[in-house]
Amino acid sequence: MNCLAVEAGGRIAVVDCGVLFPDENVGVDVIAPDLSWLLDRREEVGAVFLTHGHEDHVGALPFLLRHLSVPVYGTRFTLAAVKGRLAEAGLKADLREVAPGQVRPAGEEGAPIAAEFIAVTHSIPDACALALRTPQGILVHSGDFKLDEHPVAGPATDLARLEALGREGVRLLLSDSTNADLPGHTLSESAVGPALADVMHDATGRVFVATFASNVHRLQQVVNAAAASGRRLALLGRGMVETFEIARGLGYLTEPHWLPVQADEARRLPRRELCVLTTGTQGEPRSALARLARGEHPDLRVEPGDTVVLSSRRIPGNELSVGRLLDDLCRLGATLLGDSVRPEGAPLHASGHAHEGEQRRLLALVRPEHFLPVHGQYRHLARHVAHAVAEGVARDRCHLLTDGQVLELDDAGARVLPERAPTGRVYAVRDELGAGDVPHLVVQDRRLLAEAGLCIAVLAVSRSTGEIVRGPDLFGMGVTGLPGSEAEIRGEVLRALEALSAVARADLAEVQEAVRSAVRRWFRRTTGRRPAVLPVVLEL
Ligand SMILES: [Zn+2]
Ligand SMILES: [Zn+2]
Repeated sequence: MNCLAVEAGGRIAVVDCGVLFPDENVGVDVIAPDLSWLLDRREEVGAVFLTHGHEDHVGALPFLLRHLSVPVYGTRFTLAAVKGRLAEAGLKADLREVAPGQVRPAGEEGAPIAAEFIAVTHSIPDACALALRTPQGILVHSGDFKLDEHPVAGPATDLARLEALGREGVRLLLSDSTNADLPGHTLSESAVGPALADVMHDATGRVFVATFASNVHRLQQVVNAAAASGRRLALLGRGMVETFEIARGLGYLTEPHWLPVQADEARRLPRRELCVLTTGTQGEPRSALARLARGEHPDLRVEPGDTVVLSSRRIPGNELSVGRLLDDLCRLGATLLGDSVRPEGAPLHASGHAHEGEQRRLLALVRPEHFLPVHGQYRHLARHVAHAVAEGVARDRCHLLTDGQVLELDDAGARVLPERAPTGRVYAVRDELGAGDVPHLVVQDRRLLAEAGLCIAVLAVSRSTGEIVRGPDLFGMGVTGLPGSEAEIRGEVLRALEALSAVARADLAEVQEAVRSAVRRWFRRTTGRRPAVLPVVLEL
């Protein structure tokens, strides 16, 4: 849920607006940040600047742009990723393409904030860092970055420009902390190609490669390795097919002379002549790879002798679903390779996020007066602060902020303000992205139901006398103790109702509350659980 607001001279620039994917099953597809702070100041918002096209940086744009119309600046591939999301949400937006090196104002020409886009390497094409010029000096935002000196395509991180900014004087550096606890340097993306080529060359059956569709340079290397080993390529998964087409259409993906084959044609190819590129590296149950693993894919099967490469990192929180996926594939007799199954030797994945050595190199080039670690868990931010201190940033000029905290820079220095901006989560279902949010209470209820189940208590009372005519009848779903204890619970409810005053007995809401608390009390005492209780009181 990356989303940063920079405010100066009555103008706000928004940097990124991303979503989070839930790690629990509560019928929610995406989680967006609470954007109320921005929406309360909508007149001030001058522009959105996007660092790159990953979902955790652009996925929540529909939530912002359905309330507010501002220019959105991003590089070509970033905007291509955004267009699909906005179209799904039925939104039109003022998208403005920029190239690295260009500077754009947050609002009208001459606005107090302007952003310069600076090329960086990452696991998606066209990623950028930003240099934000403000009345309080230059802020550099690294975006998600690594310092890959041998990128597969596109420019390397523009170190010369970052160094020049450092010489000019940088007031604040905000930098990607994801891999702050990993020493040294990330592998170059180009190191993955030879490993993929080896796997495809040596394998005697089909080779399935799963990766993130947005990692176009990885896709390119799979394409190249497949071609070099005489394999045709098939694409599985909607995201993979769409991204492949977009990347090819924009010239980010160059293919040998052939095109991907359709899945039904792929099935007829000799096993040694097929490479399948698919999504589903995190064990998402509806993904093509998960369906293959369960033997439920309509066109293709994984069989003994086939190889499955997970060319990806296991995102923390997904261990269980990835484990299930690997078990299913193993059961089918596939050879498993990849980061998640720790092969010897060849790297089948390279991270898109800088390790300590690269983070320190950036700090040394930019030499910021103040430092604000972003992007990562709290422990990664804390570790990144230690790296900044080691690179000469004063400890009291490193600001370790949590969501909603506000850092103020003025002529006197920098400080964290006591008041916080509201933060929180907005839950949504993908099909209804931008239209139908799932309210907080609904998500809370679903969690409660999963934990302890539901008990419905139906009671009929006489409208004229207030006497109980029937019930309470008790129905349980997912609760322990029912059926079997109806009489006992009924007794407890009746005693609670008898204890009510005559006035309270005449009030339907009071009666419902008394029924609810009596039933809950019984469950808590006898089962130690607190199921949801739904009292239904009918007046006859
Ligand atoms: Zn990213
Ligand atoms: Zn990110």
